[in-house]
Amino acid sequence: MVIVIAGLLVSVLPGYYLTYVRIWQRETGRLGAMQQTDFALERIHNDIRSARGVALSSDGTYLTLTMPLRAYDSSLDRVVNVLDASGCLADGDHIHYYYVQDPDGTGSTGGAIYRKVNPAGGTEGAPRIMTHQIYPSLNPRGSGGGAAAPIFAYDGTLHIITVTATAAEPKPSSTTFAPTQTEPKCRRCGADLIRVPTTENPAGEIQCPQCGTDVQPTAEIVTYQSRFMLRNL
Ligand SMILES: [Zn+2]
Repeated sequence: MVIVIAGLLVSVLPGYYLTYVRIWQRETGRLGAMQQTDFALERIHNDIRSARGVALSSDGTYLTLTMPLRAYDSSLDRVVNVLDASGCLADGDHIHYYYVQDPDGTGSTGGAIYRKVNPAGGTEGAPRIMTHQIYPSLNPRGSGGGAAAPIFAYDGTLHIITVTATAAEPKPSSTTFAPTQTEPKCRRCGADLIRVPTTENPAGEIQCPQCGTDVQPTAEIVTYQSRFMLRNL
């Protein structure tokens, strides 16, 4: 039985950005993978606030943000946005966020989200891991029992980027000497967990394919969904 507590946090700075964080299925307090995901979303948010362009892969696992070109202005003694001849912002760094499944080669069904900066005219930056233990297959489902929400989605009309990340933090093993199960599975039968749409919860709730709602997950599972508005297009 999964307890569903919906949390809603609204934060609006007029004219700059709009964001909210929705939390599904929080079972207990937040732990490592959750905290990392929280920080990752904050980082993405900060980047999107000043981004002037966005591109996504068709499967929604790769997000590229184009930042305005910035340079030091000696008369102002500060770093400012560079304008082109027609007075528009010029393209600068490209910031990439992307999901890699099973980066450690352990056969995990989950993966990690990385951040990489390619500076304008510079050498490609090294990928930095932002958060791990991310399970896109457990993301909320679309209406009518559709596919799991992609990690990154973009609404080109509303200029809103939606980031959906389901993090799983392993619970300590119930037996003293058993190794902690790192994958989110059913503690009773060991099956991989699935998200099943229900009448009360059309986006789906975490269940076991064998035990149904009687599942005892080996991990705390929290889905974060944030929407960020692009204002600098
Ligand atoms: Zn089961």
